[in-house]
Amino acid sequence: MSDWTLPKGDLMAGKRGIVMGVANDKSIAWGIASQLAAQGAEIAFTFQGEALEKRVRPLAESVGSQILLECDVTNDAQLDAVFDRLKTVWGGIDFLVHAIAFSDKNELKGSFVENTTRENFLRTMDISAFSWVACGKRAAALMKPGGSMVTLTYLGAERVLPSYNVMGVAKAALEACTRYMARDLGPSGLRVNAISAGPMRTLALAGIQGGRGLVSTGREWSLMKEDTSMEGIAGCALWLLSDLGRSTTGEVVHVDAGFHVVGLPEGVDAG
Ligand code: NAD
Repeated sequence: MSDWTLPKGDLMAGKRGIVMGVANDKSIAWGIASQLAAQGAEIAFTFQGEALEKRVRPLAESVGSQILLECDVTNDAQLDAVFDRLKTVWGGIDFLVHAIAFSDKNELKGSFVENTTRENFLRTMDISAFSWVACGKRAAALMKPGGSMVTLTYLGAERVLPSYNVMGVAKAALEACTRYMARDLGPSGLRVNAISAGPMRTLALAGIQGGRGLVSTGREWSLMKEDTSMEGIAGCALWLLSDLGRSTTGEVVHVDAGFHVVGLPEGVDAG
């Protein structure tokens, strides 16, 4: 299946939306955005700070994007400006992709109890969990029934994994936010879901000590004995963001080649 690519189509034809969290062409947000575009979506992008603009601009231009805006999610004025601009240019949007997380890499190793500071705990929660609520609230105000939003989470929300530490706490909060957002926005016909992706070789993974080990162990222990594919993650996002996902909300969908259901891997002496 490694050379499989998603077929082109028109699942997202006539839909407009915003993708937040592209840092480079390895970003999960880019993997999703490029497939949304191949299915006919019109996409606005944000980037965090000028340094990333030069990486994101050519990607955005390659899918014909007309809207590229700076947005640090800790800055309410920038958040307001982004969604105000979408309202001015498009009037409304149909989807939001939130693929944003941050923590001090010095705390993504060793002992969670010993290494976690108040300052970084709060910052990690702000950027990696609260920002989903902040973006979702503003996106919802521009959506009509049928609108859909997706964030990215990881198994460290549910289970203990080496080094993931405070990010696991933030992902648990992110998943709980997904359910409460889905409750509040459901009566307006809006859907809110999370994709729990297996480990991918991105900048974010590089900040986790032993992150590459998560990839190799993920492959070895997974039911499918293979890496999580970007196509699989993007395919799931397409389902959730298109009308195919019509009745799914408040959900955390695992896209990890089955890693999350393994208790002990094959070959371990179970006594
Ligand atoms: P990435 O580094 O490409 O993307 C992370 C993005 O977060 C970057 O674009 C960065 O600019 C953005 N960001 C960080 N702080 C920000 C801020 N204050 N304001 C605005 N943007 C900010 O890495 P990625 O792996 O593609 O991460 C995307 C999402 O996927 C994250 O939520 C991550 O936790 C999640 N995820 C990643 C993996 C993995 O193994 N890589 C697995 C599951 C879930």
